Amino acid sequence: MASDWTLRQEICDAGRRVHQRGLVGGTDGNISARAGGGLILISPSGCCLGMMEPGDLVVIDSTGRVLSGRGRPSSEHWMHATAYAQRPDVAAIVHAHPPLTVAFTVAGLSMSPCALPEIIMAFGQVPVTAYATPSTDEGAGVIRDLVRQFDVLVLDRHGSLTVGKNVMDAMYKLEKLEHAALVMLTAHQLGGVQDLPPEEVAKLAQLRSRLGIGRAEDVPPACLPPACGGTCAPSKSS
Ligand SMILES: [Zn+2]
Repeated sequence: MASDWTLRQEICDAGRRVHQRGLVGGTDGNISARAGGGLILISPSGCCLGMMEPGDLVVIDSTGRVLSGRGRPSSEHWMHATAYAQRPDVAAIVHAHPPLTVAFTVAGLSMSPCALPEIIMAFGQVPVTAYATPSTDEGAGVIRDLVRQFDVLVLDRHGSLTVGKNVMDAMYKLEKLEHAALVMLTAHQLGGVQDLPPEEVAKLAQLRSRLGIGRAEDVPPACLPPACGGTCAPSKSS
């Protein structure tokens, strides 16, 4: 595990990048990392992610009790604590408000899970959670089951939650998500989204498994050939 100071610097670096890229506005969003001993290092409440210094971060336990640091922990700390509890393999979490991703949920539109090869390969799919009132413990409830299976969640009308093996990994997943939303929005504007043929999705699902990126079963069955049962390869490549 990275040293405490390195982790703090990584969180601040990621915060600057997330803010500069417009993936949060003002004091929105929060970033955390496992700090060892069951503790969580997290951005403080009311702080702009783009202007954090390493000493600003707060150390909390899984109940949100502050063990060190000056401020209060982010109001979304329940969501972070829940994700860590469900995923022992996860070392860092980024919660942001990527505007195009959120816009799809406000419009009631789905970013088709069958259209973009890189999303199918990297994430399997990107589920949208039920709506939860931001800054309350409702957020923990809507992510609890989904985060067990998926690294990237869209929070209905609110934002995103991306988890990773380190801070940068979680942040790159956020960037990939919003980039996909930009592509999908542009496709809608250009006349509509055309899904990949099911046989091509099946190839991607297999590749995802073969390369050790994730489980083929995470790809939505509705994107795959009917006979696939979720995991089969197309006959031409098997
Ligand atoms: Zn939020």
